[in-house]
Amino acid sequence: MMNFSLTDEQQQVAKAVREWGARDVAPYIREHDRRHHFDRERVLGGMAELDLLGISVPQEYGGAGMDYLCLGLASEELEYLDTSLRVIMSVHVGLNCLSLLTWGTEDQKQRYLVPQAQGKKIAGYGLTEPGAGSDARGIQTTAIKKGDRYILNGEKSWISLADVADNFLVIAWSDIEKKKLRDPSGLSAFIVERTFRGFSSGPMKEKWGILAGNTGFFTMDEVEVPEANVLGQVCEGFKIAMFALDQGRYTVAAGATGLIRACRDASVKYAHERRTFGVEIGEHQLVKEMIAHMESDYQAARLLWLRSGWMKNQGIRNTRETGLAKWFATVASERAASDAVQIHGANGYSDEYPVGRFYRNCKGAVIYEGTREIHKVMQADYLLGYRTDRPTRCELPAYAVEGHEEK
Ligand SMILES: Cc1cc2nc3c(=O)[nH]c(=O)nc-3n(C[C@H](O)[C@H](O)[C@H](O)COP(=O)(O)OP(=O)(O)OC[C@H]3O[C@@H](n4cnc5c(N)ncnc54)[C@H](O)[C@@H]3O)c2cc1C
Repeated sequence: MMNFSLTDEQQQVAKAVREWGARDVAPYIREHDRRHHFDRERVLGGMAELDLLGISVPQEYGGAGMDYLCLGLASEELEYLDTSLRVIMSVHVGLNCLSLLTWGTEDQKQRYLVPQAQGKKIAGYGLTEPGAGSDARGIQTTAIKKGDRYILNGEKSWISLADVADNFLVIAWSDIEKKKLRDPSGLSAFIVERTFRGFSSGPMKEKWGILAGNTGFFTMDEVEVPEANVLGQVCEGFKIAMFALDQGRYTVAAGATGLIRACRDASVKYAHERRTFGVEIGEHQLVKEMIAHMESDYQAARLLWLRSGWMKNQGIRNTRETGLAKWFATVASERAASDAVQIHGANGYSDEYPVGRFYRNCKGAVIYEGTREIHKVMQADYLLGYRTDRPTRCELPAYAVEGHEEK
């Protein structure tokens, strides 16, 4: 049965984020973006109060126990305000918390997931390195076993919340022979705390987008990680890294959809305000065309991420669908932001209006969590039969929404 209506809880989440954003974020975001300032207290404090930091984590692990559509809706509303806010959902909830929920031991869930879901600790995800992004097998970080510990050495770059997060999910080579062969079954996943000796972080200083957010690097110099902090089994790191991306990409897709809506709304407003040749610019057909495209992109992007969220709720594997949703929404958001600047004319070229910020922010999502090109190749490979998704040992827990059957 098809059902396009949202439950009361889903509508409430979207409304609560919208109201909080209008009150506590919108008045300050332009200034924070201008000053490259991550407002930890206001942003993380507000998100914790709204239960967003553990939104789809079961209540028994300190979360809000809401379904995955709520996660998507919150992501869409957050990026409507500013990309920096949605990034927190992507890395803290999508990439990290949901990986711990799915792959973690009970001890790891108690020690890490519970405080993260409660918003007492913030979490990040470290896969990318200076020499390897898309090519995850090219990473150089190593994790050498010594007694009941692993010694981690390496550098992770372009890490969201690098200077802010308390805990990181780190991917490293635990099998050096397999590293030489670039065999991804030699990679393992580790929970690394900022407080571990040998860990240090810093910001990416020349970044030109998502300026109200924190993006940085961290280095691990002989960091001792207890064996109990291996997530999943040793040598399951690649699978866990890819699993995490299924959840992160979902929030990116929903967020980029919110960015398209923000571009659309700003453009409609301006098209009524600005007059040329004796009429509102909205009267010109070429301006209408740009606005109409924003609407079709918004609606299509929304349906794609809603489908992914529905599949997650049902416990159906959705790597392919989520990849498509992420690819489509991020590329469409770049088009929408570019057109929004165009509609604003010279005013769009100034930070007096929000569309310039949208334009800078949208590009990141076309790059992270699988570039536009990687997603394009993936979708073609599914069609050509070069790629299929094999079942993994652990799968994201399904969520039974009233009216839908749990699988
Ligand atoms: C704002 C921001 C936040 C980020 N946050 C995180 C984070 O929290 N954690 C994390 O681990 N990483 C993070 N990243 C890193 C991000 O995931 C990588 O930048 C991304 O995976 C691309 O890798 P790369 O930059 O090394 O580009 P490369 O992999 O070097 O790619 C360069 C270009 O070559 C193209 N290309 C590469 N391989 C192929 C191929 N096989 N076929 C066709 N084209 C190809 C790419 O599409 C791209 O256009 C973040 C990045 C940004 C910008």
